[in-house]
Amino acid sequence: MKKTLSIIGFGTFGQFITPHLSPHFDISVWNRSDYQSKASELGVQWVRLKEALSKEIIILCTNISFFESFLKENAHLFNPNALVLDVASVKILPIELMVKYLPSTCEIIGTHPLFGPQSGKNGIQNLNFVISPVRSKKVDCLKDFAENTLKLKVFVKSAEEHDREMAYVQALTHFVARAINEMNIPDSPLSTQAYLKLLELKGLLSGDSFELFKAIENNNPFAKEIRENFKSQLIKLENLL
Ligand code: NAP
Repeated sequence: MKKTLSIIGFGTFGQFITPHLSPHFDISVWNRSDYQSKASELGVQWVRLKEALSKEIIILCTNISFFESFLKENAHLFNPNALVLDVASVKILPIELMVKYLPSTCEIIGTHPLFGPQSGKNGIQNLNFVISPVRSKKVDCLKDFAENTLKLKVFVKSAEEHDREMAYVQALTHFVARAINEMNIPDSPLSTQAYLKLLELKGLLSGDSFELFKAIENNNPFAKEIRENFKSQLIKLENLL
C-alpha cells in the first residue's frame, strides 16, 4: 500500500511537484485559498487541514513568511509520528521553526529542490536536490527515493552550508536577474553570446513570485553581505570610469 502524503500549500511549487509524487504516494492537499478544482484536475484529494496533518508524510510547501504563525497555531494537529519536510529556498530558518514548534516525536528533514516550473518544465531528471538532515531515521530512504526514483542529483548539506552557498547561487543571481528584468533590456539582432546570457537570465526568473524573491533575499542570513559586496563593486567600477 502507498504511504499517505500531504502537501500543505498548493501554490506554484505544491502544484508543480504533485504529478512527480502522485505515482508513488496517496496524496492529499490543503491550501489556505480554494484550489479544490486544481486538486481534482491533478487527481489528488482536497482535504481539511486537520486531515492533511494526520498523514504519514507532510510536506510544507507554503511561503516561509507563513511558517511561524502556521506552526504555532497548528502544531497540536500534526500526526506525532509523521515525517515532516519543508521545501523552502533557505534552510536555517524553517528548520529552526520546525524544531521549535513541531511535536518532539515528529521526524524532520529539511529539503531544497533547486528547481521549479521553469527549470523543470521538461522533467526533473538530473536537477539538484539538497537534503538537510535534522532528526529522522529516514534520510537514507529519502536520498534513495530522490536519486533512484526521481533521478535527481542529491546533495546532503547542513542548513548553514546550504544557506552560505545559496547566498551566491540564488540570492546574488536573483538580485541581478530582477534588476535586469526591471531595466527591460531589449532583444537585438546584434546580440553577442554574453548579451544573450543576460537576456536568458531575464527570462529565467520571470515566473517566480515576488514573495519567493523576498524569501530568498531576506531569510538567508548570508545574502545581505553578498549583495552589499556586489553593489560596492559596481560603485568601484563606476568610479574607475
Ligand atoms: P507561491 O506560489 O507564492 O505559493 C505560496 C503558498 O503559500 C500558497 O499555497 C499560499 O496560499 C501559501 N501562503 C502564503 N502566505 C500564507 C498565509 N499567510 N497563510 C496561509 N497560506 C499562505 O510560492 P511557491 O513558489 O509555491 O513557494 C512555496 C515554497 O516552495 C517556498 O518555500 C519556496 O521557497 C519553495 N520553492 C519554490 C520553488 C519555485 O520554483 N516556485 C522551487 C523550490 C522551492 P494561498 O494560495 O492561499 O495564497
